[in-house]
Amino acid sequence: MKTRDPLTVIKSFVENRQNSDPAGESVHVDAEPMERLGILKLNLRDLGHSVDKRINERLKSIVGEGNVVAEPSVLRSYLEVVNDDNIGRRIRENEFAVVKPSSTSQVVELVRLAVKEKIAIIPRGAGTSREGAALPLGSAVVLDFSLMSRVLNIDEEDCLVVAEPGIPLEMLEVKLGEWGLRLGHGPDHATLGGAIATNSLGQRSSRHGDMRNFVADLEVVLGDGGVIHTGRSVWRNNTGYDLTQLFVGSEGTLGVITSATLRVGPKPEWTAKRMYAFEGSLEDAVGVAREVENAFQPVSNRADDHARNDGKVCTVRVSFEGKKEAAERQVRLCDDLIRKGGGEPVPDDFAEEFIRRRSVKAFEMGVRPKDERSVPEEPGIRFSDWKRSLEKWKGLCAERGITYAGCQLNVSYPGVVTFYSTYPTGRPELVEAYRELMEEFYSYVISIGGTFSATHGVGNRMNRFMAAQYPPRNLKLMAGLKDLFDPGHVLNPGKVLP
Ligand SMILES: Cc1cc2nc3c(=O)[nH]c(=O)nc-3n(C[C@H](O)[C@H](O)[C@H](O)COP(=O)(O)OP(=O)(O)OC[C@H]3O[C@@H](n4cnc5c(N)ncnc54)[C@H](O)[C@@H]3O)c2cc1C
Repeated sequence: MKTRDPLTVIKSFVENRQNSDPAGESVHVDAEPMERLGILKLNLRDLGHSVDKRINERLKSIVGEGNVVAEPSVLRSYLEVVNDDNIGRRIRENEFAVVKPSSTSQVVELVRLAVKEKIAIIPRGAGTSREGAALPLGSAVVLDFSLMSRVLNIDEEDCLVVAEPGIPLEMLEVKLGEWGLRLGHGPDHATLGGAIATNSLGQRSSRHGDMRNFVADLEVVLGDGGVIHTGRSVWRNNTGYDLTQLFVGSEGTLGVITSATLRVGPKPEWTAKRMYAFEGSLEDAVGVAREVENAFQPVSNRADDHARNDGKVCTVRVSFEGKKEAAERQVRLCDDLIRKGGGEPVPDDFAEEFIRRRSVKAFEMGVRPKDERSVPEEPGIRFSDWKRSLEKWKGLCAERGITYAGCQLNVSYPGVVTFYSTYPTGRPELVEAYRELMEEFYSYVISIGGTFSATHGVGNRMNRFMAAQYPPRNLKLMAGLKDLFDPGHVLNPGKVLP
């Protein structure tokens, strides 16, 4: 395979594709399937209509006046989410309140008040979830956990940490680092509570697992105001039904997490990120990335098609960590293997720029063109299905006038594929076309045995696909769990279940 100067390849990518990945399209809340099945008792329309003066006074008496957000512009910021595409119906400022509890007992009081007044409780971390999971949809009290962000205990000998939900993972890593420990999860911008409640799949997950693999115990406030601990303070506990795992990924719909005990490991001495450029098909790049996976089991390993030159410019990104000497040797061996497969290492500064543009910082940098929406979809499909799924995606994009904008395969998690596309936001017919595209594509994914969400959960952007993916009996079982843990259905209604 012919190689081209990797620097030119990546430079042209960075200059020409002035966009970042996060965004989405408009969907509406559709509670019909569950209603038709007679499953959900309380729907969004049954909730109260506003958080009035009387309720506001009660909130102040629970968390203190200063901890009820009053400034309208700040209040509005809680309606902004990463896929800020008008997911669901927009609610008015007087319909919801934002409070900052500082203890479990305050959370208990808030949940009890919500049940009494029929108001939703929306636990919220950093608000970075991509499917609208933290968005209030009706009369609601949003729990901002920024005051509950303490590390309660670090147990160096037993490699355990206990922390409150509001701590950003980045901050938790700093605290653990002081003890020579680390969690090793990403994305760092998420809070602990949000990462657990979405079971987020970290950047280094092939080595460390997703959030599910870290949690030993949770303190949770249930929908009736009761408080439970779900597990034990040990790494392994093989007893009874696993309540801890039920709460991981439940998106705040079964309980409010008020503290978590997690297993942690030693901080690695050395870490390295490598990016390799390929001029060739994505299939070639993926083939080499798989060889790397088998040979070294790196911490992360992704292959990207940047949709330029008809999909003929690809990259592979690999991370290593461990003892410096051993990890450096692995990097050298990896470089050799990739060169043999037709790739070339890209200089670190270009690699960093590339990653920055694809991260949440892209928003701060303003690199997303104002008139263009860039949309990532992340279904779970069998590895053996990635090529035909990509062809399907490209075909659907072409049929609907949407631009195919690339694809990323998580080689260390075979089957997690991100499909990208873009369209100009100024054309409402394309917004509708994208909606149809999503319907068709996810129907296809489900029909070939895949799942509509491999990573980002369900929220309210995706919950209409639940009834397509699961038979009524499964939905009834899930709704039964909701009844059990949240009998008043006040916890994050309109999310997960359709
Ligand atoms: C640029 C970018 C990259 C990303 N990369 C990845 C990635 O690689 N892998 C991945 O898995 N995700 C990724 N995400 C998604 C996102 O980071 C995760 O979903 C994140 O874990 C959410 O954390 P948060 O603190 O922002 O939670 P929020 O968005 O505030 O909330 C998410 C959900 O958790 C619930 N919740 C929050 N706190 C609590 C609590 N205390 N108790 C109960 N429920 C609670 C909320 O109600 C909501 O349902 C990415 C997002 C962005 C913007």
